[in-house]
Amino acid sequence: THTHTHTHIIAALSVRNFWHITDLHWDPTYKLSNNPELVCASSGKRPAASAGKFGEYVCDSPWHLINSSVYAMKSILPDPDFIVWTGDDTPHVPNEDLGEEAVLDIISNLTHIIDKVFPNTKVYSALGNHDYHPKSQLPATPNSMYDRIAEMWQKWLDPKSKETFKKGGYYTEKLVNRTGFRILVLNTNLYYDQNKLTQNMEDPADQYRWSDEVLTEAANNKEKVYIIGHVPPGFFEKKRSKPWFTPKFNRQYLDLVEKHHSVIKGQFFGHHHTDSFRMFYNPEGSCTCLSLSFPISTMFLSPGVTPWKTTLPGVVDGANNPGIRVFEYDTETLLVKDVVTYYLNLTRANAATGRWEKEYRLTETFRVQDASPASMHQLLELIANNHCYLQKYYDFNSVSYDLKDCDSDCRVDHVCAAREVDFYRYELCLVKEGAVFIYGGLLPLLSVALSLVVASE
Ligand SMILES: [Zn+2]
Ligand SMILES: [Zn+2]
Repeated sequence: THTHTHTHIIAALSVRNFWHITDLHWDPTYKLSNNPELVCASSGKRPAASAGKFGEYVCDSPWHLINSSVYAMKSILPDPDFIVWTGDDTPHVPNEDLGEEAVLDIISNLTHIIDKVFPNTKVYSALGNHDYHPKSQLPATPNSMYDRIAEMWQKWLDPKSKETFKKGGYYTEKLVNRTGFRILVLNTNLYYDQNKLTQNMEDPADQYRWSDEVLTEAANNKEKVYIIGHVPPGFFEKKRSKPWFTPKFNRQYLDLVEKHHSVIKGQFFGHHHTDSFRMFYNPEGSCTCLSLSFPISTMFLSPGVTPWKTTLPGVVDGANNPGIRVFEYDTETLLVKDVVTYYLNLTRANAATGRWEKEYRLTETFRVQDASPASMHQLLELIANNHCYLQKYYDFNSVSYDLKDCDSDCRVDHVCAAREVDFYRYELCLVKEGAVFIYGGLLPLLSVALSLVVASE
């Protein structure tokens, strides 16, 4: 027992933490008003009937909420190893209501508050599709906005990082200067299907070739790597068959992970504003004797600070409570040991005083050993097969905003989005999990394909 205790203490010592914040979406127009249509520009004429000083579900964040979230981080965990910040700083308003200067000004204000509250903490910051003007049109070439943002983030960037950032909005560094550990900060807005500038390119800003090279070198140097970015590959779990990447770029990203999974120890993204995760499995490879697929990597999708109810057609009541998140990781292996999400119940915060509370701890709530790919796979199978787990996952998906029952269609959407990042395999999953299908054309084709897959197993 003595040795056991000893190793336990050593294991505990190597566990440290970092913050992940994303999608702050500050709306500078937010103000309390007697006219619910005049509370915030980001509501887009939807009435903000229960507006309070911490915000409203149809609005992006007022400054008070931004301020409160950053100071909550400071009081909950004042000395993290580093902070991951995955973008989307500006409000959801038409392009005409913003401009280059307005966007830069908002990014600058958020940069300043994070830097003011955490002056001695390294921040790894990725661009979101809303951190450019016009939104989502991030170029694959050098431009003045990348330049000016690189200057703003100067303090957080090595000279080499500044160079690649100005070129394509991406960079890599040794993770908090530790030899053997690396972070890759990607500009996946270049792969977003809303980005008209990059649609027809093979490899926008050379980012794919560069990432492949960085990861190959990392493997040669026995490094362990985290990848962060804003827009994730795969599908939105709240809307069936809704991907973000173009098919070609989705495949490229998957190729990268499949090729380099042995060095990639975690992926951290935003954009959804919801709390979810994505599994990556080894592609059925050369060995035909065992078609067992095993988990090779997990992407964590962290909830947003903005509570903004999405206007995406087909999503019903898609708001969330503001969330921020601590990752506990092993500093030796870089494996994610646990995930602790903190949140602000907006309704309660507006009624009384705003107190950020722990929402849940992954290993405690879901009774998994850690947050490794194997454990996350185990958790996904529990969610897929046990309604209790599904419902808990679903409640947390909106940061405890939408607590209604997750029915069978809801189950399929969430399970298939988490399980399959590949476009074709996602559609197969819908059929396999028994989704009530809406597309006449695709279904017969997929059923045939599925029966072939099943027959070959
Ligand atoms: Zn966003
Ligand atoms: Zn976004």
